Amino acid sequence: MVAKSRMKLWLGAGLSALLALFASIPLAAQSTAGPGIPAALPAQAATGPLGDVAALAKEAQSWLIDLLRIDTTNPPGNEQAAAKYIAGVLDKEGIRSEFLDLAPGRSALVARLQSSAVADPSRALLLVAHMDVVGVDKSRWTVDPFGGIVKGGFIWGRGSMDDKGMLAANLAAFIALKRSGMHLNRDVIFLATADEEQGGDASIKILINKYWQKFAAGFALNEGGEVFVKNGKVQYIAVQASEKVAVNVAVIAKGPSGHASRPTKENAVVHLATAISKIGNYSAPVHFTTIVRRYFEQLAALEDDEIGKWMRSLDSSDRGEHAARVISDANPLWNSMMRDTIAPTMLSAGVRNNVIPGEARANLNIRLLPSNTVDALIAELTKLVNDPQIRFEVQPDAGLAAPPSSLESDLYTLLTKVGTREFPGVPVLPFQSTGATDSAQLRLRNVQSYGLEPFPLTDEEFRRMHGDDERLPVASFAKGVDFLCKVVAEFAATR
Ligand SMILES: [Zn+2]
Repeated sequence: MVAKSRMKLWLGAGLSALLALFASIPLAAQSTAGPGIPAALPAQAATGPLGDVAALAKEAQSWLIDLLRIDTTNPPGNEQAAAKYIAGVLDKEGIRSEFLDLAPGRSALVARLQSSAVADPSRALLLVAHMDVVGVDKSRWTVDPFGGIVKGGFIWGRGSMDDKGMLAANLAAFIALKRSGMHLNRDVIFLATADEEQGGDASIKILINKYWQKFAAGFALNEGGEVFVKNGKVQYIAVQASEKVAVNVAVIAKGPSGHASRPTKENAVVHLATAISKIGNYSAPVHFTTIVRRYFEQLAALEDDEIGKWMRSLDSSDRGEHAARVISDANPLWNSMMRDTIAPTMLSAGVRNNVIPGEARANLNIRLLPSNTVDALIAELTKLVNDPQIRFEVQPDAGLAAPPSSLESDLYTLLTKVGTREFPGVPVLPFQSTGATDSAQLRLRNVQSYGLEPFPLTDEEFRRMHGDDERLPVASFAKGVDFLCKVVAEFAATR
């Protein structure tokens, strides 16, 4: 009864009441703050029109733990097991979901909350997260990576950050909307994807080609951003609006094979090593996209005076080049945001200790700015290496460049508004991620897709992503669920 009368009140109160729609989870947040996490995340009312949202975050934590216990290491992925679990959770809420089959053992899952009888995909909001995770070296973990363990204020496990935390938070926001019975002014679609970490036969690309009508939307929230904690405070919220493009290029050196007791200057190993050394010392030219320029402009105000000063002069013609050098030396992320980068990652040559091989190969993992092409970079590297024994070969797994999402869209505007309200005084910055996400494929379908990792995390925690002992602070998860719920509910209510 109490819940019902509350609901009526709230439905009559309109958009302004939505600001208080989802109660925060400050109690959990404050009592369980882990190392490096702000002791007092912004506090709000403990209850709201939706009832006990702290309880919702606890429920979401239990879904996250269950998902961590389902091993979706990719390859092979086996995402169908996670999809079945989520379908069960949705089923209990009376939400019908649908498996989108991709390959044996691999399915995505989609569910929809409808705003009206006639769907308008251009207004719909897609909540997307991937179910697969990268592999682990169990011997380097201090806990079972698939144990779903909670201890010391952390939720431990492969995927806790990337991306099952977001998956569980999306599920929470989606279910909260359903439970509220609120009137939606746009469809909200939940999508759990597969094969994000490998981009193969079960990837978003295949999903879009086969099933686009099932989840077509004008807007999306995905992984790829960050709520960045530094010196015990949330410093900024980075919303990913663009991403770099990953391309692998083989460097192949050829030379005469022969007896190692009679070496010649044409040895393929030596030519490859010389080429890699030149490439390793090469810096591609700096180019600022709109998003990166905005990022540095806004970040300048938050950095210490010295770095801030250089960030502000990045665009000036007289000091710009020097400033770019200072900034790129200061931080590998900043360096990668302003230019194409090349990381040699694999080497192979030789079959015997005493045989000079006829061929030596290296892999270059290249991350292109979305406006640049790999052909232009290879032309540059060919000139730099200047060796007829060397050739470059683009590998078939190249990512696709996508236009950035708009920094003027209704969703970006709302993210900025809710972000600065929920984390008082904290700016929201647009971000071009150096890593790739499913958002590029969505942007190529004209979806305004934004990366929002809603959990406040320190750099130290972020570095565990894809690494050993990946974990998510309990307090950060609860705060992230709260933040995401508010964003989703307020956007679903806007006309
Ligand atoms: Zn991910």
